[in-house]
Amino acid sequence: MAIEVKQINKRFGDFIALDEVSLNFPAGELTALLGPSGCGKTTLLRIIAGLEHPDSGQVLLDGEDAAARHVRERQVGFVFQHYALFKHMTVFENIAFGLRVKPRKVRPSEAQIRDKVTQLLELVQLDWLADRTPPQLSGGQRQRIALARALAVEPRVLLLDEPFGALDAKVRKELRRWLRRLHDELHVTSIFVTHDQEEALEVADQIVLMNRGRVEQIGAPDEVYNHPASPFVYGFLGNVNLFHGRVHQGVLATGGASFDVPSHADAQDATGIGYVRPHEFEVDRYAPGAQGIVVQLRRAHAIGPLAQLELERDDNAEMIEAVISNERYAHLKLKEGETLVVRPKRLHVFVDGVTQ
Ligand code: ATP
Repeated sequence: MAIEVKQINKRFGDFIALDEVSLNFPAGELTALLGPSGCGKTTLLRIIAGLEHPDSGQVLLDGEDAAARHVRERQVGFVFQHYALFKHMTVFENIAFGLRVKPRKVRPSEAQIRDKVTQLLELVQLDWLADRTPPQLSGGQRQRIALARALAVEPRVLLLDEPFGALDAKVRKELRRWLRRLHDELHVTSIFVTHDQEEALEVADQIVLMNRGRVEQIGAPDEVYNHPASPFVYGFLGNVNLFHGRVHQGVLATGGASFDVPSHADAQDATGIGYVRPHEFEVDRYAPGAQGIVVQLRRAHAIGPLAQLELERDDNAEMIEAVISNERYAHLKLKEGETLVVRPKRLHVFVDGVTQ
């Protein structure tokens, strides 16, 4: 089912939780709603589910206004951060629950329920846990059961609110890969709320970046990562080094170094900020006359395939984080305290909020 929200506004007292939010969630795709705590992700999810009503705006389910449709009629499945499983029921009964409480006319038979639950237990690869109760499961297993339970009623939309938020980093990583594979199998339109950018970039077909109740950017993961529409998006999607300076006729001057920014050829002494991710630098030993930013190597962590360098600028003592391959690091035979020169291979410059 395709979902569209149009000009949604929602206030809690004086506080604006959602401000003119308009979005499409394409049928069969997994969309991540990403943003800092309090930006309105859960509120938007609850409005789509029908658990909360917007002050104005529309939710369209397959093109149809959902306002008159009660939560139950919207055919949504929910998975929350804190497992909402019934503690006293077995895993089997937890998954069967949604089927057993259906109105008599549409309730499946006992044999159908058994088949369906068995099938779902196989799908989430936990058939061996059918007779246990939730306290006898790990956090990750509980979330997989919660997902099986949400899927039992064959929802047309799956809403996942930080489903792995309470799990440790390793289990989280495993589960998000598992969720992606499951999604590829089922193709249920899914909305996944998270404030973890790595999780969103890895799992989603589409990312919606929210900030203070507004949508900052919508796009495929590589699009939002490589072509951030605003400084907020840039900063939110991973580590970044900032170079404050002035932009004049296509050149950003920042401390002792200046860089060509042809996309801002028209700028006349404007305030500009250059954005460079740690892996977007070329790093060399310093040589007189070298072009770039002169830095001192303060610390290096060369573990695994990458070497992370903490560099201090000579001209203003600001720190720069650069990441190069460990091979390159070994080749340069760098030592802490050495003078180096770094050049951005890629530089995004925002001038008065415009990016190029
Ligand atoms: P988190 O990642 O922390 O869950 P979120 O992006 O999901 O955050 P929401 O839960 O949608 O954020 O909340 C958005 C804002 O609205 C928050 O500032 C929150 O305090 C406020 N808010 C949410 N529900 C209510 C409510 N029922 N009454 C008053 N304020 C609320």
